[in-house]
Amino acid sequence: MNLTKSHIKLIQTELNKMGLNAGTVDGIVGNKTKLALLQVAGNTGSWPFKRQAIAFIQTVCKQKNIDAGTIDGYWGPQTDFAYGVLVNFLRTGIMPLPWRDEQAAFLENPHNWPFESNASLEQFYGEVGKNQVRLQLPYPHRLSWDKRSIVRSFFCHEKVKDSLNTVLTNVLNHYGMDEIKRLHLDIWGGCLNVRKKRGGSTWSTHSWGIAMDYDPDNNALRWGRDRAAFSRPEYDKWWQFWEEEGWVSLGRTKNYDWMHIQAARK
Ligand SMILES: [Zn+2]
Repeated sequence: MNLTKSHIKLIQTELNKMGLNAGTVDGIVGNKTKLALLQVAGNTGSWPFKRQAIAFIQTVCKQKNIDAGTIDGYWGPQTDFAYGVLVNFLRTGIMPLPWRDEQAAFLENPHNWPFESNASLEQFYGEVGKNQVRLQLPYPHRLSWDKRSIVRSFFCHEKVKDSLNTVLTNVLNHYGMDEIKRLHLDIWGGCLNVRKKRGGSTWSTHSWGIAMDYDPDNNALRWGRDRAAFSRPEYDKWWQFWEEEGWVSLGRTKNYDWMHIQAARK
C-alpha cells in the first residue's frame, strides 16, 4: 500500500486542526508535515515516516470512535475499512450504520440463495444462460453506456424475478423517481451476461442472470468506501432493500465492486 496525495492531504488537514502547523494542504510531504507529525502525542519518531503517517490516520479514526484496529502503523483490512469510513465522515458529517447492523442484514436469506461456487450455483439455478424470463421493471432504467436508452424490462433468472421486483418496488416507493435519478439508482450496467470471471476460469454470477450492476461509472471495480458513490449514507435504504431479500453486495461485504449485487452468498 502506498500513501497517495489524498492520504497526505487528510493527514495535513487533521494536523492543522490540532494546531500542529503542517503547512499548506497540498498532499506533498515536506519538512513542515514531517515536523508536525512528530509533535503528535505518542509518536516517538522511531518509526519511518510512512508508518508514523499510517499510525496517525489510525489515531484520528480512534478519536472518532472508528475502529481501525491496533495503532501499529500498518495498513491492514481494518485500517483500510476505517479510512473509508473516516473520509466519508469528514466529507458528509455522517457515520454509516454500525458494522454489526450490516452484518445482521447479511445473514438474512429468505430465498435461500446458494453460495457462490459454480457447483452450488449450477445445482440451484441450472445451466448458465438458461431459465431466463423477462422482468417488467417497476421504474424505467437507463443504460450506463448510453444514458439516452431507456430500459423498461430485462432478462433475469426465473428464480430471482419476484425478489428483484420486490426490491425495485421498495426502492421506487421509498426514493421516488427524482431521487432515483439523482442517486443513479436507475443507471443500469447489465444483468444476464454469460462470461467467465475476469482473469479466471469460473463463471461470473452474471452468467445465470442473478447479478446486477448499477452506476458502474461512479462505483468502479477497484474503488473502496473512500471513492464509491454507493457507500454513502444516502444509499443505506437501497442496501437494506437488497439485503432483506438476501442479495449480496460485494461493496458492502468486501469493499470493492460497489456496482455489483448478486443473488448468491459469499
Ligand atoms: Zn457485476
